[in-house]
Amino acid sequence: MSEPQESARSVLVTGGNRGIGRAIAEAFLAQGDKVAVTTRNGGGPDGALDVRCDVTDPEQVEAAYAEVEAAHGPVEVLVANAGITKDTLLLRMSEDDWSSVIETNLTGSFRLAKRASKGMLRLKRGRIIFISSVVGLLGSGGQVNYAASKAGLVGMARSIARELGSRGITANVVAPGFVETDMTEALTDAQKDAIKAQVPLGRYASTDEVASVVTWLASDGAGYVTGAVIPVDGGLGMGH
Ligand code: NDP
Repeated sequence: MSEPQESARSVLVTGGNRGIGRAIAEAFLAQGDKVAVTTRNGGGPDGALDVRCDVTDPEQVEAAYAEVEAAHGPVEVLVANAGITKDTLLLRMSEDDWSSVIETNLTGSFRLAKRASKGMLRLKRGRIIFISSVVGLLGSGGQVNYAASKAGLVGMARSIARELGSRGITANVVAPGFVETDMTEALTDAQKDAIKAQVPLGRYASTDEVASVVTWLASDGAGYVTGAVIPVDGGLGMGH
């Protein structure tokens, strides 16, 4: 990890204590940025500000945001990564299976983006990056709730891109395929093999392979990219 540099940006990553979010937080830290991670259970890489925040609770989002701003200054890069699955077939899907996934993955990301936009409008710059999924575009049996939440992020990002583009703020979506994390560890070996057989690259992604696309989207080099959906899926969703 590098020491924060004078030009270090204030970066907030939701769900940064493990999996993809942790790798994203580590990648920004390695660049010398000031990184805050928000989670329900705490933890996160060394050098990151560890902030408790359940994204389903608007008051916790507000309090966490204020804590991050007080420590690191206005957030210039928001990565809305926190997400859950509650998979089951449509006929068995309860109201709670539906609403808890939408509330965390979609509404939680909306809350963060709305709060982030305040500071970014004042700064006249900002990068908002939503972590969606290949499933949001391809669909997936047993994941009606999850796929809907991830597809919703695309409409949200593109609307934000239109609303805030003239103020120097970009909004983009990263759509990973299958990545080696706790979330996919829950799959059976047979399910994992079936997935790999569909992926042209024949393997899962590492979390670092997702993180490097996120840091690129936040870099100066991606200054003219907004409203984009960038797949990091080994070719699984080709054509979407
Ligand atoms: P993990 O299950 O490993 O981690 C999920 C993260 O989200 C944890 O840090 C968790 O922290 C946090 N989180 C969950 N619910 C909440 C909540 N209500 N409030 C705040 N934080 C919360 O997931 P992955 O790393 O695998 O996935 C990260 C993102 O990438 C998710 O949005 C996921 O949908 C997406 N994705 C993952 C893929 C994969 O193959 N793994 C593929 C495509 C997309 P805590 O529990 O402490 O709150």
